[in-house]
Amino acid sequence: MRLPNLGSRERAFFVLDFWVMERQTNSLEETAQVAAECLASLEPSQQATVLALRGDLGAGKTTFTQALARELGISENVTSPTFVIMKIYDLENKVFERLIHIDAYRFDTPDELDGLNFSDFLKDPKNLIVVEWPEKVEGKLPPETVFIDFKFISETVREISYS
Ligand code: ADP
Ligand code: MG
Repeated sequence: MRLPNLGSRERAFFVLDFWVMERQTNSLEETAQVAAECLASLEPSQQATVLALRGDLGAGKTTFTQALARELGISENVTSPTFVIMKIYDLENKVFERLIHIDAYRFDTPDELDGLNFSDFLKDPKNLIVVEWPEKVEGKLPPETVFIDFKFISETVREISYS
């Protein structure tokens, strides 16, 4: 992952052998900007790229995904897939051809992922897969998964960190 330029409210630090980016956003627009930078820093690999978004309800996971979708050129409204579990958007992006948004909040067991053809989605490097509530599908995500943590700081402020 390439390291973006740092602003005044951002910091980057080295933990064991990887960089951690941590920053506070004071608005939806700033969260969207972090999403855009995160997207730009992704380097496609031999298989699908997986982003795992952790954090409490209301921490900003869906908001972040909506910003990713906009950045990828999706004009339709990206809603929370909590009730439908998974949504797939076709992209006209050079790197990714599909955005697959999964919300595992209602999963009782990680095996529910198998019913969504998840292992097939993982094989295609043209897929960008975003998983909300990755804790619910522990053991099912590839080792290359990029974990992004969201923390509620105040009504309008969130802390976002990823490595
Ligand atoms: P989650 O998917 O993690 O449950 P959502 O993205 O659905 O959370 O909800 C986040 C809520 O917090 C939205 O209503 C959004 O408008 C609000 N919010 C306030 N400030 C921010 C911020 N800086 N970044 C992201 N969301 C914010
Ligand atoms: Mg959500």
